[in-house]
Amino acid sequence: MGLEVCVLASGSSGNCTYVSSGGSALLVDAGLAARDIIKRLEEIGSGPGKLDAILISHSHTDHFRSAGTLFARYGVPVFTARETLRAIDHKPACGSFWRVSGCRDFPDRVGDISITTFPVPHGGRDAGRPVGFLFESDGRRLGHVTDCGQMPRKGLELLRGADALVLEANYHEAVLRHKLRDPAFAAYWPYLRWVDSPTGHLSNQQCAQVLRQVLSERTRAVFPAHISENHYDARRDNNDFATASSVVMMAVAELGLGTRICRTYRKERTPGKRSEVVRLA
Ligand SMILES: [Zn+2]
Ligand SMILES: [Zn+2]
Repeated sequence: MGLEVCVLASGSSGNCTYVSSGGSALLVDAGLAARDIIKRLEEIGSGPGKLDAILISHSHTDHFRSAGTLFARYGVPVFTARETLRAIDHKPACGSFWRVSGCRDFPDRVGDISITTFPVPHGGRDAGRPVGFLFESDGRRLGHVTDCGQMPRKGLELLRGADALVLEANYHEAVLRHKLRDPAFAAYWPYLRWVDSPTGHLSNQQCAQVLRQVLSERTRAVFPAHISENHYDARRDNNDFATASSVVMMAVAELGLGTRICRTYRKERTPGKRSEVVRLA
C-alpha cells in the first residue's frame, strides 16, 4: 500500500506524527497528552493498540511527553538514541517516561516500514542526540525533520526525491530579527538568538531553501511543521501556518512542481479541524 502519514499535532507545545504502511504503524514522537494522541488516532481510524512503535526524535518534552503512558497502557515499544535516553533520564521532570522499560536504539525497520535516521544539530546536551527520519515502504519514501538548526548534507541526500516531507518551518526570519532589535523583547533575546542559531530551529526561509534542494516531481506533499508558538498573541508570535506555507509555496512554484502544501495544526488546533491524512500509494 505504500505509506500513510498524518501529523497529529506539531509545534513547541507538542509533536506527534502517525506513519503507517497498512500492515505496520508507528508514531514519530509522543509529545501530546496520551488522551489527545488516542483521540486523534481514533479520528483517522487507528488507535494506540494498533501501534508497533514510538520513535522519539530527541529529549525535549514536546516530543516524549506521553511515551511512558502509551508504553505502560498499550505496550507500545519505545525507541530512541542512547544519548537521548540518557538525557531524558537526567531530566528532573521526565513525565511518564520513567514507565518505559526496554527502550532501545532505533531499529532498521518496524514491520514493513524501513527506517533510516540521521543526526541533526539542535539544542545542547539536554536534547540528547536529535535525529531526522526517512521512512520507506513499498517504494514510497517519507522524510520527517523537525527541531533542526540547519539541515546536514546527509539529510539533504536522504530527503532528495521523497514522496512526502514533514519539514520544520519554525519562524519567520524578518519577524524574529525585528524582535532581536526591539528592546521590548529583550527578555526573549537569549532564547530567540538560540532559535536563530545553527543548533536552533529551521526558519520558513531555511525550510524553503531545503525544499529547493530536495523536491522533485515525485514529491506529492509537504507538511510545514513545528510552526512557532504564541499564535494567539500577534505581538509575540513569530509565525503562523499561512505565513510559513506562503514561503514554502514560493519554493514549490519556482521549481514548477505540483507538490501540495498540507495543513498542520499545533496542539491547540482549531476546533473541528484535523490534520490531513496523506496516502502515498
Ligand atoms: Zn520541539
Ligand atoms: Zn527540540
